Amino acid sequence: MLDDSSEDVRSQHPRLALETTEPTLFGRGWISGMLSSILGIVGLATVLCFRFPHLLTIPELLDKYPVPFIRGSLHIVLVTSFLMGTVSICLRKNKTLGLIGISLTLIAALLGGSGVTVGNLSGEPFLALDWFVLNLIVYSAVYIPLERVFAKHPEQPTLRKEWRVDLTYFFLHTLLIQTTSLLTMQPAMVFFDWARLSAIEQTVSTIPLVLQIPACLLVADFAQYWVHRAFHAVPFLWRFHAIHHSAEAMDWLAGARLHLVDAVLTRGLTYIPIYVLGFSQTAIVVYVIVVAIQATFIHANVRWEFRWIRGLIATPCFHHWHHAAEPEAIDKNFSVHSPLWDWIFGTYYMPGRWPRKYGLCGKRDVPSSWLLQFLYPFWRRGTSLPQSNTEE
Ligand SMILES: [Zn+2]
Ligand SMILES: [Zn+2]
Repeated sequence: MLDDSSEDVRSQHPRLALETTEPTLFGRGWISGMLSSILGIVGLATVLCFRFPHLLTIPELLDKYPVPFIRGSLHIVLVTSFLMGTVSICLRKNKTLGLIGISLTLIAALLGGSGVTVGNLSGEPFLALDWFVLNLIVYSAVYIPLERVFAKHPEQPTLRKEWRVDLTYFFLHTLLIQTTSLLTMQPAMVFFDWARLSAIEQTVSTIPLVLQIPACLLVADFAQYWVHRAFHAVPFLWRFHAIHHSAEAMDWLAGARLHLVDAVLTRGLTYIPIYVLGFSQTAIVVYVIVVAIQATFIHANVRWEFRWIRGLIATPCFHHWHHAAEPEAIDKNFSVHSPLWDWIFGTYYMPGRWPRKYGLCGKRDVPSSWLLQFLYPFWRRGTSLPQSNTEE
């Protein structure tokens, strides 16, 4: 029978819950558990990509993958995941992370492990599971250590409240990259081809690349600024964008929380002027990479203020204020790349400190599961007004 103190310890440090107050310092089994889980996901997803390449990989990338290297790395990933999972189970009262890592590794091994047979290669459409794996490796390797060492809010755990729903967004957005890219670029190409003037295209193409890239970013940010502002001002659009603002913790993963309609409409409308002006392919590729990096970074839980450059570049502090649950910050800091447009249009807000609270001001009726969030804009008709109308 448990005495009071051991019951206390158990309720504080549950054995099978991912959100726990149990310490996460080196030697407490958290780092090994996280490594085991992430490597387990990476390992299993890679085995699935090998088995079902026609369904789960981007066709254009297929012949570029160094298969022997990936098989070797996969072997190391699976062995490390298993070992780290065992270490975590030994060190930690909460066994969840270790068990997840070991279970995923065993499933991957049962499906063939690093010696898995390559499946049928042809066929479309596909889900980009390989893209999810690549993104998960890069983002978790960069941001998890960064947000632990340089955190603005060190009390906020990596597996904070609602991390699951944000990881679902991250998973689905990377998995559906083919569909969302098509939905983003195709409308501009189909409906705005008439607006492309050869005189303008020729002028733009003569601009050197070093100037074309910042010009492309400024044009995109101008379009993005007004689309974003419209999402805040128009009640019908706000219902979709309120999902992004419902995040009550800021970190790299929170940036992924975007309703599909919000993501596609914002990127699609932003792409129109880029397409019409005829920026070079290289400038557009650089723009896409910068968006991916900056849109994640400005949400990150890092304390760097970049004081020397924050008037030019959108920083985490700048965008954290966009998410602040403080009345003075409502409808401020719409830009993603540079605060310039906020300066010009009077929505710049940087009071010299960081926000104390994030999320929605006023009415907070956004559900917490992905599916209900997806349905929310369609069934909460007329009840969720823009924040400027719902100040407490
Ligand atoms: Zn917003
Ligand atoms: Zn945001």
